Amino acid sequence: MKEIVLASGNKGKIAEFRAILKNFKVLSPKDLNLNFDVDETGNTFYENALIKAKALYEVCKLPTIADDSGLCVDALDGAPGVFSARYSGGTDADNNQKLLRALDGVANRTAYFESCIVYYDGIKSIAATGRTFGRIAMEAHGEGGFGYDPLFMSDDLGKTFGEASETEKNGVSHRARALAELAEKLRDEI
Ligand code: IMP
Repeated sequence: MKEIVLASGNKGKIAEFRAILKNFKVLSPKDLNLNFDVDETGNTFYENALIKAKALYEVCKLPTIADDSGLCVDALDGAPGVFSARYSGGTDADNNQKLLRALDGVANRTAYFESCIVYYDGIKSIAATGRTFGRIAMEAHGEGGFGYDPLFMSDDLGKTFGEASETEKNGVSHRARALAELAEKLRDEI
């Protein structure tokens, strides 16, 4: 089975990638005893994913995949976008508070999550993007998930990602959609 190294140490993410990229042996940097960290200096999810995939390739010389994702709010011109994780400089709860304040009195609350995943093998890169649409609730609902999940009212599910089960969220998530597209595009690489 062809090996592929995922630029993440997140156990949930590794499991999700393994479940969908069944034809590959998905390894983590830890599996290779690598200490991997790189600054996300890109202006887009694609740029950040490519920066990570290339940086990881340089240290392991095996095909790599990296993802970058975030929340884009239409009324905020796509913010927090690539700054989603560091929007407030504090915790997830601080980020959610800042978002609610930014949308105070704003009627249009439509938003989407985007995930870009890039494969890089030293010569070529292959990218896939997934989006999931919804709107920002007036207050947090649910305890599940992470990040902006309690505020993200999913169009597909009719409830926030914070209220959804993991299976429900994985059925419609931006990451799952990007992964499915990447799996399709990688079929010729096996
Ligand atoms: P990452 O690129 O997957 O690490 O995501 C960057 C940031 O975007 C996270 O720290 C969250 O703030 C936000 N984010 C990305 N995906 C999700 C999601 O599925 N739910 C909630 N927040 C997310």
